[in-house]
Amino acid sequence: MNVIRLTSGPIENNTYLVFDKNKTCALVDAPFDCYDAIRPHLEKNGLNLTHIFITHTHWDHIGGLAELKRETNAKIYVHKDDAFRLSIPEMELGGSVVQFEPVTPDVLLAGGEIIECGDMSFEVLHTPGHSPGGVCYLERNANTVFVGDTLFYLSIGRTDFEGSDFGTLINSIKTKLLTLPDNYKVLAGHNETTTIGFERQNNPFFR
Ligand SMILES: [Zn+2]
Ligand SMILES: [Zn+2]
Repeated sequence: MNVIRLTSGPIENNTYLVFDKNKTCALVDAPFDCYDAIRPHLEKNGLNLTHIFITHTHWDHIGGLAELKRETNAKIYVHKDDAFRLSIPEMELGGSVVQFEPVTPDVLLAGGEIIECGDMSFEVLHTPGHSPGGVCYLERNANTVFVGDTLFYLSIGRTDFEGSDFGTLINSIKTKLLTLPDNYKVLAGHNETTTIGFERQNNPFFR
């Protein structure tokens, strides 16, 4: 699995373009203006974007989703407990209100699914706490997990938002992520890449 990390949107969210040797391609999260960011890479590598995996539906992860859907017609995957935000054209989060274009998801997830995408295989881990329908996408062959805002380099997701819960988040991370092998790469919605082993050793929330 090849991974290209790009950033877009007003707070420079990460968005991950992943593809196999046959050029089948998925995107993890769709921040504002992500289509502009990924388009040159789709063209240069001749990629066919078929899947859009949403980790959770806070505006910074889905602001570019409607445009991306229109341009690529890739299927949108989102957890059923987070899908509601995609139909509301404005979102209040941490005191700021952001407008965006509503969009209809294609596949509602519950957690536990295995989604095949070309040679790649993504296991859906339901990891509530930052958002009720937060999920991580685990690709075991590539030792990689896409975690959205669940876990960060030396930190964890915020739990001061509506629907957030600190204890639930800690439990999700301990039971679904820290049980993975040390060498698994952790690709988050913000900030730099880390590994399960590094966070197990050094993250102040788990030391
Ligand atoms: Zn978030
Ligand atoms: Zn975020």
